[in-house]
Amino acid sequence: MVDSKKVIKILLKIAEKIEVEKDFLTDLDNKIGDGDHGINLMRGFHAVKEQLILTTEQDISTILKNTGMKLVSTVGGASGPLYGTAFLKAGMTTVGKTELHSADFIAMLEAAIGGIKMRGKAIEGEKTMLDSLIPALNALKEEYEKTSDFNVAIHAAVAAAEKGVEYTKTIIATKGRASYLGERSIGHQDPGATSSLMILQTIAANL
Ligand code: ADP
Ligand code: MG
Repeated sequence: MVDSKKVIKILLKIAEKIEVEKDFLTDLDNKIGDGDHGINLMRGFHAVKEQLILTTEQDISTILKNTGMKLVSTVGGASGPLYGTAFLKAGMTTVGKTELHSADFIAMLEAAIGGIKMRGKAIEGEKTMLDSLIPALNALKEEYEKTSDFNVAIHAAVAAAEKGVEYTKTIIATKGRASYLGERSIGHQDPGATSSLMILQTIAANL
């Protein structure tokens, strides 16, 4: 079980992770984009952190929605509205909740992906954040159904996301800035898929 305090703690850990990995994410974006992914996310999660440090909010839905709105308003770049929508949609699945259980996480990730798809009009295989998130969700569901052990399932989800990031190196970008490169985008790992993996890793490590 994860309570509101723990949700806040995990969000703060995500902010920390993004701060640490900012230059790496920016380097990845330098190769196939405009080199701002790390900076964009750091700006957003720094604002989220400032908001969370002060909050006394208990309702997990409100915490996640506030996070999403903060990201939308501060990140800039394609990833801002996409991650913002992901957190907003995840928040919509937890209305009135002050604690989360395994099924809640699955519903949250599913809703987050639905939001990203709706907003970005992308599908799997276009070299985006969806290429780590969708395999992660599939593995999470499959392993949880098989084992009823959320810890096993979330680690399977992270492993699937890692494979997804590797897969982005082999495909052409057809959405976002990287799509301007066409075939030249092959060989490079997608920054957004990588930041999504980092978010999942942080969640798994702190549950
Ligand atoms: P920008 O491309 O505007 O500079 P960022 O650099 O912050 O924004 O984010 C780039 C990342 O956003 C890409 O690596 C990709 O994963 C993700 N992305 C871009 N367009 C889409 C889309 N339509 N759907 C899903 N993800 C996308
Ligand atoms: Mg960029």
